[in-house]
Amino acid sequence: MQLEATELTAAERRLKDEVRQWIADRLPPGSFQPGLGMAGDVDPQFSRDLGSRGWIGITLPREYGGGGSAVDRLIVVEELLAVGAPVGFHWVADRQSGPNIAANGTDEQKEFFLPEIAAGRMSFAIGMSEPDAGSDLAAVRSKATQIDGGWLVAGTKIWTTGAHHADYILALFRTSDDRRGGLTQFLVDRRSEGITVSPITFIDGTRDFCEVNFDQVFVPDSRVLGHVGQGWAQNTAELSLERGGVDRWMSVMPLLERWATQQWGSAPASFRSELGLITARCWAFRSMSLSVARMVDAGKSPVVEAALIKEMATRFEQECVETMARHFGREPDLWSDDPYESLLARAILVSPSWTIRGGTNEILRNIISKELTRR
Ligand SMILES: Cc1cc2nc3c(=O)[nH]c(=O)nc-3n(C[C@H](O)[C@H](O)[C@H](O)COP(=O)(O)OP(=O)(O)OC[C@H]3O[C@@H](n4cnc5c(N)ncnc54)[C@H](O)[C@@H]3O)c2cc1C
Repeated sequence: MQLEATELTAAERRLKDEVRQWIADRLPPGSFQPGLGMAGDVDPQFSRDLGSRGWIGITLPREYGGGGSAVDRLIVVEELLAVGAPVGFHWVADRQSGPNIAANGTDEQKEFFLPEIAAGRMSFAIGMSEPDAGSDLAAVRSKATQIDGGWLVAGTKIWTTGAHHADYILALFRTSDDRRGGLTQFLVDRRSEGITVSPITFIDGTRDFCEVNFDQVFVPDSRVLGHVGQGWAQNTAELSLERGGVDRWMSVMPLLERWATQQWGSAPASFRSELGLITARCWAFRSMSLSVARMVDAGKSPVVEAALIKEMATRFEQECVETMARHFGREPDLWSDDPYESLLARAILVSPSWTIRGGTNEILRNIISKELTRR
């Protein structure tokens, strides 16, 4: 395990100031409903505006609209999540689908997808989980059968966040019986004939969670991502992009800020010591995420470090929600006119899912222990 202390450079601090100012102008308080981190609202116009500033797809190759570093991306994302910005439309494409295509795609795929992603005009969903394949992802059964010019896909994906608004689903399908060697990633146009997207109502009443049925959907050869049979390795690399970022501990940031600023003056000493502890832990997670981003920029693959951050940070987020709920003094109302009260009510309902999405804590602990034993 290797997490080295690091700070932002002067140029990175300038970027931070610039992003912060832009967000303050573009999203004045009251102009939007703050969200819980990556589950922020879906606002295609906001994503386009952000893309036009060059702040989506930052780590993609320069010729496709990127050219920045993982640290630059961390800075932008941190500022967005601090206010609960409406990042829902571009989130998945920016965080993982774009980088996956950049790493494994053909020139044609890069030219087709990456500029659209960087411009905030193309949305992606993650098609990994199935009814009997969650933690055990190698159990994927949805099958792609080769035909003339492409593949016919049949099966069901579940818990596919945002599939109802996504333009594409980057999905893992079985192309042979070999458990891991028989998996392949496909870039599937969500509007293809034979796809049915059925939203599943989440515990807070939102309907971003979906079941996606593929009924003999034709996917052309040109939309196989990487090599046939390489899906497991590509998928594993993609998952590490999901895990080490600031999004794993910043879901609660707008709530923490409101809690701190509204209660500090009159609060008892116990409140101040809890807030102090939370602030210190936030800073520790920030330092870890920054260190992971520096490792990525140095060409390293921080799989264990990312898993470790997610395991610890998502438990921390849940503890923050419990603390704020205890201090709130009554049950917060999901339908309150105060956007922060309704956000706290939502956080209480959905925070149990934070240690499940992106890989459960038990699975992350398995990854960490196996990898450390191997090293
Ligand atoms: C909010 C949210 C959003 C999601 N979005 C997406 C998405 O966009 N796309 C997508 O593909 N999926 C998505 N998922 C699915 C998510 O990846 C899975 O829920 C997760 O991987 C767990 O799989 P499962 O639900 O099938 O649980 P299971 O795999 O059935 O696990 C059940 C329990 O058993 C434990 N367990 C299982 N195997 C082991 C083991 N080997 N050792 C120890 N314990 C074990 C687990 O930790 C868990 O506690 C989302 C889930 C949530 C909650």
